[in-house]
Amino acid sequence: IANEQAAEVRTTCPYCGVGCGVLARVASDGEVSVRGDPDHPANRGRLCSKGAALGETMGLEGRVLHPEVGGKRADWDAALDLVARRFSEAIAEHGPDSVAFYISGQLLTEDYYVANKMMKGFIGSANIDTNSRLCMASSVAGHRRAFGEDVVPGVYEDFEEADLVVLTGSNTAWCHPILYQRILAARHARGTKIVVIDPRRTATADECDLHLALDPGTDVLLFNGLLAHLARSGAVDESYVAAHTCGFDSAIQVASADAPTVEKVAAGCGLTVADVRLFYELFTTHERAVTVYSQGVNQSAHGTDKVNAIINCHLATGRIGKPGTGPFSVTGQPNAMGGREVGGLANQLAAHMSFENPADIERVARFWNAPKMARKGGLKAVDLFQAAGDGRVKALWIMGTNPVVSMPDAGRVRAALKACDFVVVSDVARTDTTRYADVFLPAAGWGEKDGMVTNSERRLSRQRPFMPIAGEVRADWRIISDVARRMGFGEAFDYANPARIFREHAALSAFENAGERLFDIGALATLSDASYQAFEPRHWPMPIGHEANERLLGDGWFPTPDGRARFVPVRQEGFAQTTDAAYPLVLNTGRLRDQWHTMTRTGAVPRLMANAPDPVIDLHPLDAAARGLSEGDLAHLSTRYGFARAKVRITNAQRPGQAFLPMHWSGHFAGAAAAGQLASPVTDPYSGQPELKQVPLRVTRE
Ligand code: SF4
Repeated sequence: IANEQAAEVRTTCPYCGVGCGVLARVASDGEVSVRGDPDHPANRGRLCSKGAALGETMGLEGRVLHPEVGGKRADWDAALDLVARRFSEAIAEHGPDSVAFYISGQLLTEDYYVANKMMKGFIGSANIDTNSRLCMASSVAGHRRAFGEDVVPGVYEDFEEADLVVLTGSNTAWCHPILYQRILAARHARGTKIVVIDPRRTATADECDLHLALDPGTDVLLFNGLLAHLARSGAVDESYVAAHTCGFDSAIQVASADAPTVEKVAAGCGLTVADVRLFYELFTTHERAVTVYSQGVNQSAHGTDKVNAIINCHLATGRIGKPGTGPFSVTGQPNAMGGREVGGLANQLAAHMSFENPADIERVARFWNAPKMARKGGLKAVDLFQAAGDGRVKALWIMGTNPVVSMPDAGRVRAALKACDFVVVSDVARTDTTRYADVFLPAAGWGEKDGMVTNSERRLSRQRPFMPIAGEVRADWRIISDVARRMGFGEAFDYANPARIFREHAALSAFENAGERLFDIGALATLSDASYQAFEPRHWPMPIGHEANERLLGDGWFPTPDGRARFVPVRQEGFAQTTDAAYPLVLNTGRLRDQWHTMTRTGAVPRLMANAPDPVIDLHPLDAAARGLSEGDLAHLSTRYGFARAKVRITNAQRPGQAFLPMHWSGHFAGAAAAGQLASPVTDPYSGQPELKQVPLRVTRE
């Protein structure tokens, strides 16, 4: 190998859940260059605009390289001692549920695992939730209702082996660009049909065969209509349904009552009869069909029902876990699935075990030798910040996330952090949230971190360090362990390196688990340090004896007590909040192509900012005219939760009565809008995921 190539380090992009492999290299002058890893199965050498600009985000601007207490520089011992003492005091005085962690899909699996072990096994509370609650909690809940566990059955190859790809609630072209490129390449090679279901005409619709610009929130009606259509047209795979599922009769009964005719569906969804009919015919006649869904489905007061409405159609046709088929949740964050594997959500236990099963709780407690095992689920994100604001949570530790920008009703989150007795923030850089920290703990960033992530298709990949640790920063797993030991949790947190944590995580998956389906669940528990370092991207779990990509559930066995999948009868519900004379528009929020989350990294790259330097509200020409607004005007935006400002863009991509604002901007960026301030904290009753995609809005001239 030439010297120049030898210096490249194989790592994984820290942005979206596609999980692209990156080759990173540091030149002798310190400049970082990146290119796509041609050997990584997720991206095969490609990177999107954000990934390609990673090298330009490695500067130290905005970083804090030492701990701070009360805004002043402190040494690690003093800061860690204070955190341990304040958490211990709160627990002693008010009980374990008086403390909470709010963590992040940016964390590596090892960080996630240690934080969950500390809170759920040693503090004795499940008050640990993650910003993944804003991202895919409805998919998790939908999978559990239908499959018995949170299983993503498909692999990315399914997008290329499908004859029909249905992209619903997903601006894949901008939010998962490399997957979109793979879909387009397959379309050019084999003529894949693409249907886009989205109230907006996004870039994803540019090359589609059919764009269904349905009314916001009517997805259940559309997919109930599809289920009823499949039954009417004899397209149900009756032998599959009989052998591998239960609940079909009640699901079809509810769907047929909800969506008795194509005409009723079209009227209810704001679509034409011809378009709905075409979609149903495409789905009926293409055996190899994948339905890809993302935040437009999940971020809803009825997100879980939407997920199950989609899954019902795939169960009815037996299109799950076979090449080119399946419902496929694509997620936002780099450790899309890793957090789910370690039980990162407040209502989950590690290794896909559940608080609903007392035997699961005991099994995890035995494995951890846990002195104080949590016995019930904890506070989910929206409730967690509510509890911090009203005094139930006395000590809160926020890790690697910026909730005062990203949470809905963000004004209330800011007030909660002000009111909370003790707030710790560990993060790579100073953010809007760090200003509320009593203690700031500087964390290692991408290029310094060392650990594992799992992408949207269950593929484990390594994030490897290629830079020296800056200043005094520490890995998240180490910071958490340092505090845990100070709280008296001792040897259980005496980790020497991330490989040791990963082995423990893998061993928990295999613990007292006979592996009845012959999955190599525990195989990774014996990885040597050297094998961990050399780890090649792979799916997990994978049936024993398989080396290559592996789908799950394709044999018709589901991880339910009787091995059968569940149809879940779902009805189209009314909106959580309706428009009125005061708030007549519907606001939708989402990502831009070149920005990531709250812009703490991508906002520092001029060429990424160049395409969209300001926050812009998209309005239909009729809505702009009705308010006397012209292109480029500054508009005042208000909802029942807060207000913001943005420049007006007039576009026919919006339907009349609907508006769109990017989610990224915050107070860091002068004159900026903060979508979180406007968004509704109403949540899905099953998943606790907030309805970030839909809130009544008023727009006036500023
Ligand atoms: Fe790949 Fe997503 Fe990173 Fe782009 S942002 S390079 S699609 S992982």
